[in-house]
Amino acid sequence: MRSWSAPDIAPLPGTGGPLRVHDTATGRIRETAPGPRAGMYVCGITPYDAAHLGHAFTYLTFDLVNRVWRDAGHEVDYVQNTTDIDDPLLERAQATGVDWRDLAHREIDVFRGDMAALRVIPPTSYVGVVESVDLISALAERIRAAGAAYDLDGDLYFSAAEAPKFGEVGGLEHEEMLTLFGERGGDPGRAGKRGPLDWLLWRAERPGEPAWDSPLGRGRPGWHIECSAIALDRLGPGFDLNGGGSDLVFPHHEMGAAETRCVTGGPGAHHHVHVGMVGLDGEKMSKSRGNLVFVSKLREEGVEPAVIRTAMLAHHYRSPWEWTGAELPVARARVERWRAATARGSAPDATPLLSAVRAALAEDLDSPAALAAIDAWAEAALTEGGTDTGAPALARATLDTLLGVRL
Ligand code: ZN
Repeated sequence: MRSWSAPDIAPLPGTGGPLRVHDTATGRIRETAPGPRAGMYVCGITPYDAAHLGHAFTYLTFDLVNRVWRDAGHEVDYVQNTTDIDDPLLERAQATGVDWRDLAHREIDVFRGDMAALRVIPPTSYVGVVESVDLISALAERIRAAGAAYDLDGDLYFSAAEAPKFGEVGGLEHEEMLTLFGERGGDPGRAGKRGPLDWLLWRAERPGEPAWDSPLGRGRPGWHIECSAIALDRLGPGFDLNGGGSDLVFPHHEMGAAETRCVTGGPGAHHHVHVGMVGLDGEKMSKSRGNLVFVSKLREEGVEPAVIRTAMLAHHYRSPWEWTGAELPVARARVERWRAATARGSAPDATPLLSAVRAALAEDLDSPAALAAIDAWAEAALTEGGTDTGAPALARATLDTLLGVRL
């Protein structure tokens, strides 16, 4: 599937250091160790609605990973899916009288526009589920052949009891897993399942629902297996980083890791990275709560994408935070101050600034520390001046290349 247009990226002098980032599976900040080509998979949207700020915060976080790796000299193979067939999409299409394909295409287009406006580096592979049905059903078939799946009235389920390291990603207790599974699209209470945490790999055709032919019969893929199949196909059995919002730790990434382990012996990714939720009015921003702030809406209102991006980067990716009316004016003032500082003919040497931003991002993507370093440099430039005529351009390039904020 077509990705979105890539921002041009200014070269920076020197190279950055290795990225250390928090890994959910071990609970520690660990160094990533990609080869010449780093591999990253990030779960994409289900396109029944536009991207809200919670989504944008997730994709900005992995955009920082992408930028830090590139700055350290790696090529980055970045794969993102889009769940262009699933229950919520069909339900919304039905409720609004729109064809599910038209709804998906429309919302994917809005998403592409949002990501391009925010200067998010596009995936090298942007992959839809509909175009991947064959490779997804092939993985389900391999899992069945391995003896880890069973049939229930024509549907195929993964038996959690057959997953030798189940719990390796989230480290959650059984009761907690049960609760989350029920809250996040699972069916712990379905009669006939061998275990309540068993999950759907392939859903047999239902009347009035789209379905595809496969060795498993006509039907469509379950949610978790789409990502494990696409990641395995595009990145291979062991890649550097798997990412998404913290609401994907369980069940989505736990079950994906179990599927991958079933056929490869490993969990897929070396690092599991999760992003904190963005709230509004004391609640997690989510479609079911209806308290969404859309990136596209802010853009329509004339909010500059660099300001949206700066507002988000003011928060550390692992901290849940609240979007309030104060976010935008603070970010706007910041961007204006940076513009004023970099518009001068000369300023204090920006080489230490570049080093400080590199160091902050390399240590668990500490974007608030990176922004604080830029604030300090801008403050010095505006109050004390400086004699380095190359400094304003270097400061602008640092912001653009490492943080994606073009002044
Ligand atoms: Zn996923």
